[in-house]
Amino acid sequence: MLIKDLWCKEARKLLFIVVVAALVGYGFGFTLEVLCLTLVIYWAWQILQLRQIERWLAQQDPGEPPHCKGFLIHLIDRVYELQKREKRAQLALKGIIHRAQASANALEEGIAILDHYNCLEWWNKSASRMIGLQYPQDTGQPITHLLRDPSFVHYFNEQKYESPLVLKSPESLKRTFEFRITLFGKNNKLILIRDITDLVHLERVRSDFIANISHELRTPLTVLKGYIETFLDIDCQFSDRHLLGFQSMQEQTERMQSLLEDLLLLSKLEKSPGPAAKLSKESLVLLPKLLDSLIEEARVLGKKRDVSIEFDFEGTFDLYGCPQEIRSAFSNIIINAVHYSKPNSSVFIRCFLLGRQGCFQVVDRGIGIESKHITRLTERFYRVDQSRYTSTGGTGLGLAIVKHVLLRHQAELKIESHIDQGSIFTCVFSEKRTRIHPVVSLEGNKLKDTALGL
Ligand code: ADP
Repeated sequence: MLIKDLWCKEARKLLFIVVVAALVGYGFGFTLEVLCLTLVIYWAWQILQLRQIERWLAQQDPGEPPHCKGFLIHLIDRVYELQKREKRAQLALKGIIHRAQASANALEEGIAILDHYNCLEWWNKSASRMIGLQYPQDTGQPITHLLRDPSFVHYFNEQKYESPLVLKSPESLKRTFEFRITLFGKNNKLILIRDITDLVHLERVRSDFIANISHELRTPLTVLKGYIETFLDIDCQFSDRHLLGFQSMQEQTERMQSLLEDLLLLSKLEKSPGPAAKLSKESLVLLPKLLDSLIEEARVLGKKRDVSIEFDFEGTFDLYGCPQEIRSAFSNIIINAVHYSKPNSSVFIRCFLLGRQGCFQVVDRGIGIESKHITRLTERFYRVDQSRYTSTGGTGLGLAIVKHVLLRHQAELKIESHIDQGSIFTCVFSEKRTRIHPVVSLEGNKLKDTALGL
């Protein structure tokens, strides 16, 4: 029945009661009294029914509805129907949550969910096994009280979650875990923990293999190179064809040697931990001294290719780090700039402060690089095109070495380039790697930074 009909029926019923009461009252000569008494009984009955309904609704788990009469039956039916629907929805939701939890528990990866106060809300079985979380005592505990490793605490508080954190397992140092944090909801966090022990092992095997093979090839190559040099040095009566062959062999062995040296350097960089910042006098790289020798080398190389070297550095800062590594990185960038410059052009080498960050920049007016290649330049053996490689004789590892060195020094490589206009390679060192000379005014540097277009 429609709700409108129900109200009409109720109104008609009330009208009928009123008319009957009025007639009965009239018959006895007490019309008003009988009418009032009837209405009071009617309201009292309704109130009684409403009270029953209220009690029924107040129950934690309301069972069967109370037996009411009149229009209230319909209301109770509606409420009862809604309750049943909500119960069904709740059951379905519980089922979904249960299935989600069961599937999360079946995962190899550890999952932990934090509330917006960074306290543990829920975690799966793998998380318990991997980082030793215990139910129920760890529920509601701040995650940094449970995972106290300083690197984790620093990573967690710094909130730079773009790249994962790799840590030794807090339970067993033989295992290595990767932690990834994702934000969701109202500053809730999801921590994903992956066991990457096998991956790390494979990576170590790969890098050991490269290091070993490079090492093993070194001796035969040195012998080969020595003999070729001897043959070329001694005054043998070689025909032009033979001489050409020997010269080509010498060129190729030299190329192989620099390739092996670069491979060895790369695997050394990968294996050893990065140098510490602000450690001691030994870790201070005096830029004027370093740049002097680099520029000297660049000028010798530039002369062969008609490229001039310009230099701008006021000696305002030095760097903390490993001198050999920084030298190798800077030298690779400078050599590339000279190699890929157009004849009769200039290469500009600059050092300047960007706020409190020390920058080393090399600008060339060379052939430039298409933007699609820029993000891949630091990959091993990535070359923009083969002709460049054959013309310069590079190993294809120079920028990979630069990337590794900078990573180990908490520095960043920025590359700007336009085809046929030239390239700008900038190494930006973090504040803690930069030792600014006490007399330097930082105000002036800000103006200079903008002038360089960074
Ligand atoms: P390579 O030894 O071949 O120079 P790198 O790793 O140093 O290897 O550089 C990777 C590639 O990046 C090079 O092959 C070259 O194509 C490109 N490249 C690097 N520096 C420059 C530059 N200053 N101008 C143009 N192209 C460059």
